[in-house]
Amino acid sequence: MLFSELGLSPKVLASVEAAGYTAPTPIQEQAIPHVLARRDVLGIAQTGTGKTASFVLPMLNLLEKGRARARMPRTLILEPTRELAAQVEEQFNKYGRNHKLTVALLIGGVSFDEQERKLDRGVDVLIATPGRLLDHIGRGKVLLSGVEVLVIDEADRMLDMGFIPDIERICKILPFTRQTLFFSATMPPEIQRLADAFLSNPIKVEVSRPASTATTVTQLLVPAGKEAADKRAVLRKLIREAADFKNAIIFCNRKRDVAILHRSLARHGFNAGALHGDMDQRSRTQTLDDFRKDRLTLLVASDVAARGLDIPAVSHIFNFDVPSHAEDYVHRIGRTGRAGLTGTAITIATPIDRKYVAAIEKLIGQPIPTLEVQADDERAASRYGKRSQPSSAPESTAAAAEVVANAAETDNAPSHEEGSERRGRRRRGRRGGSGERSEAPIPQTQSHRDDGPVTPVPRGDRAPRPERREREPELAEADGPALPFGRDGHVPQFLLRSVRTS
Ligand code: AMP
Repeated sequence: MLFSELGLSPKVLASVEAAGYTAPTPIQEQAIPHVLARRDVLGIAQTGTGKTASFVLPMLNLLEKGRARARMPRTLILEPTRELAAQVEEQFNKYGRNHKLTVALLIGGVSFDEQERKLDRGVDVLIATPGRLLDHIGRGKVLLSGVEVLVIDEADRMLDMGFIPDIERICKILPFTRQTLFFSATMPPEIQRLADAFLSNPIKVEVSRPASTATTVTQLLVPAGKEAADKRAVLRKLIREAADFKNAIIFCNRKRDVAILHRSLARHGFNAGALHGDMDQRSRTQTLDDFRKDRLTLLVASDVAARGLDIPAVSHIFNFDVPSHAEDYVHRIGRTGRAGLTGTAITIATPIDRKYVAAIEKLIGQPIPTLEVQADDERAASRYGKRSQPSSAPESTAAAAEVVANAAETDNAPSHEEGSERRGRRRRGRRGGSGERSEAPIPQTQSHRDDGPVTPVPRGDRAPRPERREREPELAEADGPALPFGRDGHVPQFLLRSVRTS
């Protein structure tokens, strides 16, 4: 099927062509004609399927017709997180560059004044997180009586984050005659109930089974010892030896571990950034931007921080921790193998993760093949009960630097966590923000595997760095106390605060 067969206007087709898309993705093919026919749509699709364009393109088409009354918003897109909202705005601007529409992004972390000035001038399209939109409504700054199309995106995520009462309040204010487009990656019974409440006689469009994983993603399970240092050694080896590697997102279950792993990778010479829910908006946007523009090769992230991010063409996903919610696994690996590209998702699993792995395999309906990997690190290797083997990977300066760093790590007896837990009590509150952009210069800008011949760097010649005992307490402490396993522990504070109960 061609884009030109979907009923889109010449202006919209020109934007699609400019974006370089040759054919619509399945969700676009199935949803766009119904949206244009003004039907309510229930779309079951994960991020990475092209679902954003499946509502943005026909919305642009609809906005070409008719006029706004007193420049009141005619369309409203609700997103669960600031990042998702910002990404939808980006896509709107990309596809809508011929349309001269005004878009307002109403998200937390940005001043009300700026957003209000924009609203006062009149906007066609609102893209908002529910809490901030309700705040604006409360201040009398937004009139929603002209909204013709409502998009509720990532409904399952909205449910997880406690936004459903907010959405119900917003829906009560919207015109009854509006068209509603409702997207969710999964369709548990609560989401079905919401869809029944919000949609009127919808067309159901499903692009892949809920909770199924993309077939273009090669999935592997790599056993490791339960010590975090062992897992880090295995991870480094996996990254170094990954085939067709371009970039990777590395998931941790806890935000505190995001910061620890980020620091460790940076210290080992990897070009890594971190993303977690407690970072301020500016740092998050900057990190994401660096990753998108290939200035960062690795992004260490927690689930909430990374959910639904539009990062095209990630070649690898590493699950540093096995997610304790099987559905998170599906979301995580949805970051690779996008829009028909192939990808690799590798999960590092310790013996205590067995039951979580079993739950994931049950959910995705297939076993994940196991790959035995021997970390180069002597200490980790001995935990597998084997001696380390010579690596078959091409050597690199980064690998050489890593050998030096490995030695340094082994020299210093306590692992990060062990040491930091103990010393952290003495140094509490010294400095914050470890999850934000690394203050140390990042030594590499390229994929480390592409580097030239080995030139082992003598330890004394390496760039001076703070003594380990000074640095490590911050790794564990800056993110606050360890959070309990599970989803609630991942919800950033700003989102928790904005939850209302009506
Ligand atoms: P989404 O599922 O909306 O997050 O989109 C995932 C990625 O696919 C985005 O980077 C889009 O730019 C890209 N994309 C969307 N539609 C197409 C298409 N028809 N062909 C190729 N890439 C697309």
